[in-house]
Amino acid sequence: MRTGRALAAAGLIDREGIGAADAVAARYTVAVTPHVAGLIERGAADDAIARQYLPDSGELARSPGERDDPIGDDARSPLPGVVHRYPDRVLLMPTTSCAVYCRFCFRRERVGRGGSAMSAEQIDAALAYVAARPAIREVILTGGDPMILSPRRLGAILGRAAAIPSVEVLRIHSRVPVADPARIDRALVAALRQDVPVYVAIHVNHPRELDPAAARAIAQLADAGLPLLAQTVLLKGVNDDADTLAALFRALVRHRVRPYYLHHPDLAPGTARFRLSIEQGQALVRALRGRISGLCQPTYVIDIPGGYGKVPLGPSFRDVEGGLSDWQGNAHPDPHG
Ligand SMILES: *Cc1c(COP(=O)(O)O)cnc(C)c1O
Ligand code: SF4
Repeated sequence: MRTGRALAAAGLIDREGIGAADAVAARYTVAVTPHVAGLIERGAADDAIARQYLPDSGELARSPGERDDPIGDDARSPLPGVVHRYPDRVLLMPTTSCAVYCRFCFRRERVGRGGSAMSAEQIDAALAYVAARPAIREVILTGGDPMILSPRRLGAILGRAAAIPSVEVLRIHSRVPVADPARIDRALVAALRQDVPVYVAIHVNHPRELDPAAARAIAQLADAGLPLLAQTVLLKGVNDDADTLAALFRALVRHRVRPYYLHHPDLAPGTARFRLSIEQGQALVRALRGRISGLCQPTYVIDIPGGYGKVPLGPSFRDVEGGLSDWQGNAHPDPHG
């Protein structure tokens, strides 16, 4: 479903909303898979799944501070489809297409109609770039969504990266396990099995996205021995309360997925409705400490605009005087002070 008419025919928006949805779709690609459409509660104004994927007229307004390249990928891109910010790891973006288009996407100007997939020559050049830099130990496939590539193409890229002697680990970031779980089949799982470890980072923001079909897809990945991580974006109106985050992280751990990062939302254009303050984010993360297992606690991070990379946002449990605060908020003197 990519147009206002298709969304209305599926009962996801009112007929009166078709024009507004098409106006957004003319600027930023819209796509909702039948699977995601099935998770959306019809008629609920504040549905957490609808909010992530259905277009909103607010996307056409740019707020102060928002920018086309919020995390500064361009400043660190030596070749098309390559972002090299840290010495030991590099991002490869073989495709700019996704199964669904998230309304909060930080690469929204590059994905969908805004971008173009890497050509065969560009992939050759990217792999040659990695091979020529033995400091690069990890190749991370992102996008776009690399899991929408055919298993044959995905397996070929992974296999060639794995064959570079200095590459020790591969990683692939994808929303497909929750957005289009039927794509996770035996051929795709086989493509992910390589001679070096392939970590799969699943992007998921709400516990309802982990429905039985997603759970089966994730189980196939886990049963194949692939280490699984999760990345979550902290989004106002989607998951900005401690109960929802606790339910999501616990569900991930039950499905053998280790929560890895909780991202503060980036300053992507037209995404103001999703943003909350860093203080609000820190208060949420603080509320989770002690309340859910350490296995369920991702690192809360922000990408510094301009291409300076990710840094953890805490919160710190050590106060300025050097005292320590426990998870229940009680103060203790610094035993090492
Ligand atoms: C996020 C990111 C990475 C991966 O960082 P980790 O902290 O290892 O997950 C690598 N390169 C770029 C350019 C990134 O933006
Ligand atoms: S799947 Fe990832 S790259 Fe694609 S629209 Fe969503 S956040 Fe952006």
